[in-house]
Amino acid sequence: MRLSVFPIAVLLCTASMAAAQTADSNHSGDEIARIVGYAMTRGGASAFLETLTDTIGGRITGSPQSHATAELILKALKEAGLENAHFEEYELTSTWQHGSAIGEVIQPVRHALMIGSYGWVPGTPGPIEAPVADFGAPAPGENHVTEAAKVRGAAVIVDLRSNGISSTYAGTRITIARQLAQAGAAAMFIVSDKPDRMVYTSAFGFYPRGPLPIISIASEDAALLRRLLAKGPVKLRLDVQNSFGKGPGRERNVVVDIEGADPSEMVILCAHFDSWDAAQGAKDNGAGVASVLEAARVFKALKIRPKHTIRFVFFSGEEQLANGSRAYVEQHKGELDRIRAVFNTDAGAQAPLGFQLNGRQDLEAATRNLFEPLAALDANRVYLDADFDSDHESFMVVGVPAYSMRVEPGDYDVRHHTIVDTFERIDPRMLGVQTAVMAVAAYSFANAEHAPGRRLSHAEVRELLKRTGLEPLYELEYPNAKPE
Ligand SMILES: [Zn+2]
Repeated sequence: MRLSVFPIAVLLCTASMAAAQTADSNHSGDEIARIVGYAMTRGGASAFLETLTDTIGGRITGSPQSHATAELILKALKEAGLENAHFEEYELTSTWQHGSAIGEVIQPVRHALMIGSYGWVPGTPGPIEAPVADFGAPAPGENHVTEAAKVRGAAVIVDLRSNGISSTYAGTRITIARQLAQAGAAAMFIVSDKPDRMVYTSAFGFYPRGPLPIISIASEDAALLRRLLAKGPVKLRLDVQNSFGKGPGRERNVVVDIEGADPSEMVILCAHFDSWDAAQGAKDNGAGVASVLEAARVFKALKIRPKHTIRFVFFSGEEQLANGSRAYVEQHKGELDRIRAVFNTDAGAQAPLGFQLNGRQDLEAATRNLFEPLAALDANRVYLDADFDSDHESFMVVGVPAYSMRVEPGDYDVRHHTIVDTFERIDPRMLGVQTAVMAVAAYSFANAEHAPGRRLSHAEVRELLKRTGLEPLYELEYPNAKPE
């Protein structure tokens, strides 16, 4: 685009301005070409992801694996010469250990069940026996559990099938869980929407402590329970051995800067490094971590000094309540007005398409211009949708322009939070493209004359949340939110 527009610009400029602009544009075009070349040919993201997944694997927030991951990221950054890389610590309200979950039908027949625990929920008080109740799909409205007697003491099947991690889905899930706990249910069985007898996990809505044992059950196994129930009472034995830590825990984010010539403003690239432990957390979100880390190393290797600072942040605690990014926002309160944009990547390792603006129509025109260098990578699309599905949320709710990478729909929903989120499912070429897209977006925004927009006031944020349908979830997640 710059090439076709430029002859007109020359006519409008004085000769010396035009010369300066030519030099400048050529320089930035050249730097972008080098960034993309490095990102796509060095294989750095893929090599890092292999080390992360095969030497550490799954990394639940607060676990030794999560701590080892922070160390690994810091070490990789330091080894690349990024001297200012450092940890930023914060408090976790609660820590949780994932124990085994065993379920078996014991009446009228014996059948082992494919089940798995959700995160940050209690276990059973040792092995228990409980009748099965079928709650079905929740009716719309607020009060889901109308007959407490039917669920008291029971393992209750709830059908909440949806695609992946939609925000409203998570809201309904926790509301029903609370109502079932209040009615005295022994456990909540959520029917998994994954294929091939796979179960699912998540802590969205349950952190810091879910109200009762919440268990994912394979859809095939839920169907069996329902067939048995149609013929008479069904009883289960259930043993879920989760435990909570005593008192609060500590976690860390990792932060590193490529300092700009004028560090008064900055662009942030971020990804969360915590994951679930059913597998290796390769797509969610090892891929994102690897591409952000490699983007930092590419800038360093090329000795690029952007106009404004580019900061790279690796968050822990995302899978609970975006704890790492919330802590970051709190710890960096004084800098929020100076953030031009936050680019978060957490959508898996398919081909990138562009970025979601999370409802910020006011940023659209400027963003389309600044995304021009992404056109050659076919990743310059702009989406106005909004969600609370990852760390961009923490910036969005304080009015900072927050962008989330969008990728081609692939197998993310199948692999997400399941036993098949493993390294060999990742296409290393796509990690190269994602690295390039993140780096070029950061470069373009950091070097632009102006920021794409400004930070919204609290009233404007509330308006945005209303308009995008996220207000109920905001109230659930931020019960103590007050205007600043
Ligand atoms: Zn994620």
